[in-house]
Amino acid sequence: MYRIGFHVSIAQGFLNVFESAKLLGANCCQIFTHSPRSWKFKLVSEDIAKTFKNMYRQKDIKPIVVHDSYLPNLASNDLEMREKSIDSIKKEFICCNRMGLEFLNIHPGAHKGQSKEKGLLQICESLNSIKEHAENVTLLFENTSGGGSVLGSTFEELKFLIDGIDFNCGVTLDTCHLFASGYDISNRETLENTLSHFDKKVGLENLKLLHLNDTKGELSSKKDRHEHIGLGMIGVEGFNAIVNHEYLKNIPMILETPVNEKRGDIENIIFLKKMIET
Ligand SMILES: [Zn+2]
Ligand SMILES: [Zn+2]
Repeated sequence: MYRIGFHVSIAQGFLNVFESAKLLGANCCQIFTHSPRSWKFKLVSEDIAKTFKNMYRQKDIKPIVVHDSYLPNLASNDLEMREKSIDSIKKEFICCNRMGLEFLNIHPGAHKGQSKEKGLLQICESLNSIKEHAENVTLLFENTSGGGSVLGSTFEELKFLIDGIDFNCGVTLDTCHLFASGYDISNRETLENTLSHFDKKVGLENLKLLHLNDTKGELSSKKDRHEHIGLGMIGVEGFNAIVNHEYLKNIPMILETPVNEKRGDIENIIFLKKMIET
């Protein structure tokens, strides 16, 4: 069964997430636990979390994935930054466990001039230092578009990360980031090549989530610029191949497409669902 949804705002409170997702035609979704542009992190209260957890059990909106905020950088060589980042991810784990959510999706980090290997090792060490907080949560490393010193744009780096973690983890593949970092998925054949490459390097069994975004950037552009489904460089042919792929169609798909005068979330999900061959 297809699981397709969006990033849903928590502006109306956590308990409204189910209704917001449903109104948009989604049966899974992604949320932030607090403002993603702030270090201020107020943990969800035990009461709200308990109600949320009960609702989550009953509603057919699954999974609800938590995306970490934009500020943490576990690969930073600045000690204060690193400690703040670890603390923030620790709080994400606590929220996920309180609310009964299975997945925490994070951006691996940027090495900022340290070597790649040192940056990657530091990400693993940082996360392993808070592993007792992971409990029932599977950590997902999201592949990145590879701009600047950002880590996690290659399958080799993703493999390094999951091998270095001492608790449950896996990978999210973002289609925009894949294309930006040089993995072509714009038609059936290139998608198949990219996936078999991923399978060899990382293992398809480690793929737990897809972020479906078209992209404004060329192949290998390293640009992280999301576009509406089918209107970017991956295009209709690429997304047709993705949503109808025998393996991928069983992986939850979250759209992080723009909302502007061209289209909003509902139009994107309708567009995507129309491509599904039954
Ligand atoms: Zn993403
Ligand atoms: Zn992105």
